Amino acid sequence: MIKPDVVVIGGGIAGLSAAGTCAKAGAKVLLLEKNDWVGGRMGSFSEKGFVFDTGPSWYWMPEIFDQFFESFGKNRNDFYSLKRLDPSYRVVFPNNENLNIPAGSENVTEMFDGLEPGAGKALNNYLAEAEVKYRLGMRKWVRKPALSPLEFVDLEVAREILRLDVFGSFAKHVRKHFKDSRLIKLMEFPSLFLGGTPKSTPALYSLMNYADIGLGTWYPDGGMVKIAEAMRQTVEEAGVIIKTGEAVKEIQASDGVVKKILTETGEYGACTFVSGADYRHTETLLPENYRAYTDEYWDKRVLAPSCLLFFLGISKRVPNIEHHTLFFDEDLDDHVRQIYNDPKWPDKPLFYVCAPSKTDKSVAPEGCENLFVLMPIAPGLEDSPGIRERYFKILMDRLEEHTGENLLDSIIVKKSFAVSDFEETYNAYKGNAYGLANTLTQTAFLKPKIRNPKLRNMYYAGQLTIPGPGLPPSLISGQVVAEQMAKDFPGLFPEISSLSPLNHNLA
Ligand SMILES: Cc1cc2nc3c(=O)[nH]c(=O)nc-3n(C[C@H](O)[C@H](O)[C@H](O)COP(=O)(O)OP(=O)(O)OC[C@H]3O[C@@H](n4cnc5c(N)ncnc54)[C@H](O)[C@@H]3O)c2cc1C
Repeated sequence: MIKPDVVVIGGGIAGLSAAGTCAKAGAKVLLLEKNDWVGGRMGSFSEKGFVFDTGPSWYWMPEIFDQFFESFGKNRNDFYSLKRLDPSYRVVFPNNENLNIPAGSENVTEMFDGLEPGAGKALNNYLAEAEVKYRLGMRKWVRKPALSPLEFVDLEVAREILRLDVFGSFAKHVRKHFKDSRLIKLMEFPSLFLGGTPKSTPALYSLMNYADIGLGTWYPDGGMVKIAEAMRQTVEEAGVIIKTGEAVKEIQASDGVVKKILTETGEYGACTFVSGADYRHTETLLPENYRAYTDEYWDKRVLAPSCLLFFLGISKRVPNIEHHTLFFDEDLDDHVRQIYNDPKWPDKPLFYVCAPSKTDKSVAPEGCENLFVLMPIAPGLEDSPGIRERYFKILMDRLEEHTGENLLDSIIVKKSFAVSDFEETYNAYKGNAYGLANTLTQTAFLKPKIRNPKLRNMYYAGQLTIPGPGLPPSLISGQVVAEQMAKDFPGLFPEISSLSPLNHNLA
């Protein structure tokens, strides 16, 4: 390859999206990924006929993915088909009480009425406001490079901010509408996706309830790894050269520009550089005087949680769980406190079980169940085989009690993953799983910036910058960065006109 115009560090969803979008705009792009797969946290492994997704499992906001493929003249159906899950998920409350959340807002409204008189109408009002926030957010906020607060000065936005509850706390917003403790937990749960607590997350993010109940929970046939495979094929066809197994060890800079980057086996020069790898890790590859933020800055950030994961192959079917089952049978506030305020291994953890084999026969051998068990924990905790095993027993006891089945004797594949693995596998700062929490002081232009203020040609994408954690935001992050690079260096992007604002048809 002749000298690329753009080198992308990291082949997670943000890196792939940035690389593909730059290539679509006419730049020559090289992507370097440390691991031997692309997709980053959206990875996968197979053992004894089971195919495990290793990270994300909730497919929300399908139009963001569809639009990505469409922007390359492709259709998502060329790569994988989607199923809408019904029920969307199950929630387990104390005393083994269950709620299955049906697909479709009318069905959810009916269910709410059954639990609290008038809650159906309250839900309709709540969702109508959440939909306005979602659409406004998609049209006016989510694709801003957030380099300056002035980008957010907009009459329509100002009017809606005055009308809608945006800056109050998510927890209070939910309680204004619902009294029943089960409904409150249910409505607060999507805030956990944003890596924050319901109290610290701004009410703006009730838009996530619209994403959940209004837009639905989907599943790509073959698993979440299909997204990574589809994105890889799409960006390679757009001209991106991908090199896996190439960890960047150093970024060399002088005179206010990055000159080249070094891996163990090579040196790569380019005109511009973008890192989709963990932001803080990328900074440590730069000379200290060119880092955008200090160690103290990073230490003060509120990170989203890390987690303890178990991948389990079970030699029989597991009854009484759905594709997604959330165990909210212990106190949410206590667990959240032990993640954010008083970081320690939780006394009484909440956890989540994904059983994709309930929907997809291809991910487990016949008659078997594929289980992914996730327990959120504070980032940076000490992590050892002994601690993992202690929690494995706690979680399995509760799962066995709920399902009424002995599972321990039927485990034929068992693998765990936690803080130290996140650090080692993804260079994740403090072993975070989902990046930076979306608190009020870490939203929009208050997040780490996509452009290094000291280096003219160094950019950042991914879950630690705008718009935030999760697959759809990280994908958008890559697009926003590419658009910003094309604006800053138009000469490198002869097809810049192909980057017309992507999201306007969502409004
Ligand atoms: C367990 C788990 C469950 C989740 N569940 C969901 C979910 O259900 N739905 C959802 O939408 N989101 C979910 N998320 C969040 C979502 O997966 C992330 O927000 C998203 O994948 C982040 O993408 P990224 O590209 O920013 O980062 P990453 O995926 O971390 O990509 C960064 C890439 O950079 C590479 N890299 C690091 N250092 C270097 C280096 N020095 N040189 C070269 N390459 C390097 C890494 O190997 C990695 O491939 C989940 C995350 C986890 C961990």
